[in-house]
Amino acid sequence: MTVRRHLITGDPVVFAPERAGRPHAFIDDEREELCPFCPGNESQTPPEILRVGEPSRWSVRVFPNKYPAVEGHEVIVESPDHDASFDSIADAAAVVRVYVGRYRALSSRPGVKYTALFKNHGRFGGASIPHVHSQIAALPFVPPRVEREGDAFARAPDCPLCAAIGAHRRDGLVIREGASFVWLAPSTPTFAYQQWIVPKQHQNEMAAFGEDEQRDLTVLLQASAAAMRAISPSHNWLFLNFPGEPSAHAYVDLFPRVTNVAGFELETGTYIDVVDPAETVRLMR
Ligand SMILES: [Zn+2]
Ligand SMILES: [Zn+2]
Repeated sequence: MTVRRHLITGDPVVFAPERAGRPHAFIDDEREELCPFCPGNESQTPPEILRVGEPSRWSVRVFPNKYPAVEGHEVIVESPDHDASFDSIADAAAVVRVYVGRYRALSSRPGVKYTALFKNHGRFGGASIPHVHSQIAALPFVPPRVEREGDAFARAPDCPLCAAIGAHRRDGLVIREGASFVWLAPSTPTFAYQQWIVPKQHQNEMAAFGEDEQRDLTVLLQASAAAMRAISPSHNWLFLNFPGEPSAHAYVDLFPRVTNVAGFELETGTYIDVVDPAETVRLMR
């Protein structure tokens, strides 16, 4: 793996030809005896970094990605059940604890500039294995999206996301509120049925999420996963963090995959949304 710089913009580009050998369980077969994430097949994954439960009766496993895009690229298998989705996991709170724990561990490593945590669910969400999992990757650079959003927070006189919570409440764009998070449909979505889960307290990194916050986040992530699966078999969620930028406000970006990123978006970097956020609120509820 190497990080190269785009010859025009200087943006980082990850070169990882070893990922070409990844399995394609969606194309080949989905049978459990072939799934490297199923119980009984633990020897097919690299050695565990972390496990919740006993070696033969685990609920969560973390191990290095066999086909890493970068150093410190880990897979979080979120349930032993091959057919589970995040909303049906019995101990989803343990998964969110693992998210925060691995984020803290990886982001404090020397040389790490950003830690990306994301879920690819379903074939059109980019998952190469259907068994429920997320990934976390420690990057030696700050991704352009995070840098751009972090700069915008730094320039703003007041935090735009703190202000957005109140505005979305007024405009009826809050789907649901927990004690410490708001689940809302952003008023300027870039994807159909896009939602954000935003901490009510201004925090720039998920490393700060305490136990109560983690439980609250779990409930909203499960509710979103269930609602998104009613719309599409595929979805993504992305944890946006802003290490070293205290004026920025961390959030989770979530969307079911109903449309593809296509030529217009790829050429212009501009997204076309076709669903009114009020409709997203109605469907998610
Ligand atoms: Zn499996
Ligand atoms: Zn804020």
